[in-house]
Parts: sequence; C-alpha cells; structure tokens
Amino acid sequence: MSNKVLVIGAGLSGTLLAIRLAQRGMQVKLVEKRSDIRKMEFVGGRSINLALSDRGLKALRMVGLEEEVLKQCIPMKGRRIHPSGGEEFTSPYSGREGKHINSVSRGGLNILLLNKAESLDNLELQFDMPCDGVDLDRPAAHFKDREGNNIRISADYIFGADGSNSAVRQSMQERHHHLVFSLSQQYLSHAYKELSIPPSEGGGFRMEKNALHIWPRGGFMLIALPNLDGSFTVTLFLAHEGENSFKKLQTANDVKAFFTTHFPDAVPLMPTLVEDFFGHPTGLLATIKCDPWSANGKTLILGDAAHAIVPFYGQGMNASFEDVSVFDQMLDLNSGDLEKTIRSYGKQRKTDTDAIADLAIDNFYEMRDHVANPVFQRKRKIEMELEKKYPDYTSKYSMVTFNEDMPYARAMEKGREQDRMLMNVCEGISSVEELDISEVYKQLKKIQ
Ligand code: FAD
Repeated sequence: MSNKVLVIGAGLSGTLLAIRLAQRGMQVKLVEKRSDIRKMEFVGGRSINLALSDRGLKALRMVGLEEEVLKQCIPMKGRRIHPSGGEEFTSPYSGREGKHINSVSRGGLNILLLNKAESLDNLELQFDMPCDGVDLDRPAAHFKDREGNNIRISADYIFGADGSNSAVRQSMQERHHHLVFSLSQQYLSHAYKELSIPPSEGGGFRMEKNALHIWPRGGFMLIALPNLDGSFTVTLFLAHEGENSFKKLQTANDVKAFFTTHFPDAVPLMPTLVEDFFGHPTGLLATIKCDPWSANGKTLILGDAAHAIVPFYGQGMNASFEDVSVFDQMLDLNSGDLEKTIRSYGKQRKTDTDAIADLAIDNFYEMRDHVANPVFQRKRKIEMELEKKYPDYTSKYSMVTFNEDMPYARAMEKGREQDRMLMNVCEGISSVEELDISEVYKQLKKIQ
C-alpha cells in the first residue's frame, strides 16, 4: 500500500514537496491556512517578487516545471548600483555568458505550483485550514476549518512546510513530546518595507529592466526588482532605531525628506511613495536555526519552518526548493524508505542551510556598505576577469548562486578563502590594470 502523507503549508516549498511525493506514487494531502490565492484578486505582475536562481530551478526541473516558470521570469544580469551623488553603473553577477538570476512573482510561482499539484490525481488540496499543532506520537495534525470546527488528520508521515512561524515546529518545542529541541531566532537590527515603481505611461520600464537595482547608503539601502508588467517592487531595508531608522519616519514629510535626501533619483519614479510607506507593514527579518528537524521518524519540518534566513543572498526560496531536491535524492539512496530518510535528512542538510544563513548575513553588510566601495569594486572586476579567462575558477557568489550541485557549506568555505585573498590584493592597488591576472589565478589555485 502507498504511504499516506500530509504536507502542512501550500506555499513554495510545501507545494513543491507535495507534487514530488505524489509523483513518486504517495497519497498526498496538502493543507493550507490561507484561502486559495488563485481565487484572490491581488495576484498579478505587481505582486511581490523574488530572485530565483539555479538551485531553485534544479528543483523545479525535477517536477517538470522549470520551462514554464522561466517564461514568467525577468533575467537580472547584474547589480545596477545607484551610488550617493555618483553615476549609476552595473556590476555583473558573473564573468560567464548566460549566468543570471531571475525575478519572478511570488504569487505567480505559487499559482503554477498549485495548478500542477491540482492536476495530480493522488494529491488533494485543502485551503482555509490553519494547523494548530501536531501530535507527534501518532502522528496526526489538528486544524480549524472555516466554521471554526476542530479537524484531526492522521497520516503515516507529516511534513511541516508552514513557514517561519511554523505551527509544526512549535509542536516539536513542546516539552510533553519528549524531544530535546533547540531553537535560535535572531532578529536583524533592520526591518523592511515594500514600496513600488509603476510602469511608465507607455507600459515600459522606468529603469534598466535586466538588473537588480541597489541604492547602498552604508547603514541602510533600497533595492528594486523588475516585474513583467513594467513595474518594480522596491524594498527599503532600514534600522528599527537610530539616526536613520523607521522610528524617525513618522509623518509624510519625514518620509519625503528622507527619500529626497538619500534616494533623489528614485523619488520621481515613486508617485505612491507615501501611501505605500504607510499602507504596507514593516517586516521583521530573522535567522531561525533549530535542531532536530524530525520527530520519531514520522514528522519533518523543512523550508523556512526549519531554517528561515535573511533575504540578502536571494537564497531563502532557493534553499527551500533545494530542500525538496535533496530529500528526493536521499529517498532514492534509501530505496524509497521514508522513515529512514526523515531520520537522517536534517543531520545531513543542516550544515548547508546553516552556511547559507551565515552567508546571507555577510551579504547584508556587503550590499549595504561595500558594493559602492572602490576596493570591493576592484575585487568584483578581478572576479569577472578570472571567470572569463579560467573555466576552473568560480567566485563565491557564483558558487552559491550558479553551482547548483555544490553544497552551500563547501561554497562558503572555499568562497571565504578566495575573498580574503582577493580583498588583500585589491587593497594594495589603485587599479585592476596594475595586476597580472595570471599571477592572481596562480595564488588562488594554491589555496584551493
Ligand atoms: P512560505 O513561503 O512562508 O510558505 C509557508 C506556507 O505555509 C504559506 O502558504 C502559509 O500560509 C502556510 N502556513 C503558515 N502557517 C500555517 C499553518 N499553521 N497551517 C497551515 N498552513 C500554514 N528567497 C529567495 O530565494 N529569493 C529572494 O529574492 C527572496 N527575497 C525575499 C525577500 C523578503 C523581504 C523576504 C522576507 C524573504 C525573501 N526570500 C527570498 C525568502 C523566501 O520568501 C522564503 O525563503 C520562502 O518563501 C520559503 O518558502 P516556504 O514554503 O518554506 O515558506
């Protein structure tokens, strides 16, 4: 008889996992707290977007959705930097042809996944059913339906893909379950606010379309990603408190003055700046690490429920999708034995998600403080030259973003060593032209 599986959370990772398990022949029930986003009005090109890259694409390829998703993406070939008082410039993501990240609508991607899930006969979807806990000993999960009735669903295996405030993780923490469970939740000093740049009157893009725009200001920053309808989703990352902070932006005049001082080229592009600022919530940013991810070999958490990270490497969704492809590979190695895979999965995978969590924090400081710095720019230039000339050299950014088969922990270890060496080289020169690039390459080879 096939396994009966319950997946809690029909967001990005939960829906992908449900599809994969159903494709493997299991009887899958996918239950979501919210209403079906396909029946809601807001979804369109202007919903919030995310950077999708190779690890995420690999997982989508596994379920046969890569091509369809790519049709909904806008390639972003590099960072378009808007320095304070200076000329805009582009810093490519890679020195190699065809390497780019993709801007994709979160809602659009979720809809594609849900449609695929619904097309599978052995996958049942249920919406408007928040989970309020899991009985790990059975296992069985408890839900409230729209009418407020208590519903209990039992299964052979339960997967919690219910995001950073996971109810399944909460159940693992409860002491009566006799699980020795560690949890750390570290909030960043900064929060975020989503704003927007609408399309131009003719329907085109008001800035370079194929780039991720950054206004780095040392201490805070603004970023913008393109949407298919010509708009950009803009995000302000700013400290909670202090001289430049959310706390100081209390009135329309405060907001206008802050943006006019720090982002003067963005202000004319943002006619709804003040409405967006006060109409949209201020989001918190946290890194969540926990251990173990499984209980009794029957329940497993994954995606943000197991390892939420800050968004500065554009890897949270990619890592959550990669969770599913790594789980699938392990299931193959274990001849389809779910219990064995659930028991060993977290132990193997956590090293890599801890690494991307740390890299994402590093990138927060890089994007905010260093991308406009001349030493850092020289380093990026050398990295691009090295990638163009030497097929066996790959920068840290490329290892994380474009090397879908290299574990995050290995990318971090190797990338950090390379970074240290290259920053030393760049501090000692005033122009990249002074360097013999083949000498730099030889030095790099020594530390590999
Ligand atoms: P979620 O997407 O949070 O999905 C969880 C699902 O579970 C939701 O549908 C939710 O409604 C449901 N749910 C929650 N509680 C319950 C419950 N009790 N019962 C039933 N269902 C429940 N990642 C990238 O790769 N690239 C980016 O560019 C990027 N940018 C980001 C920008 C910002 C500002 C933020 C905050 C995050 C960003 N991320 C990015 C990270 C990415 O959003 C997450 O890593 C990703 O959404 C995780 O997917 P998930 O399915 O695990 O969780």
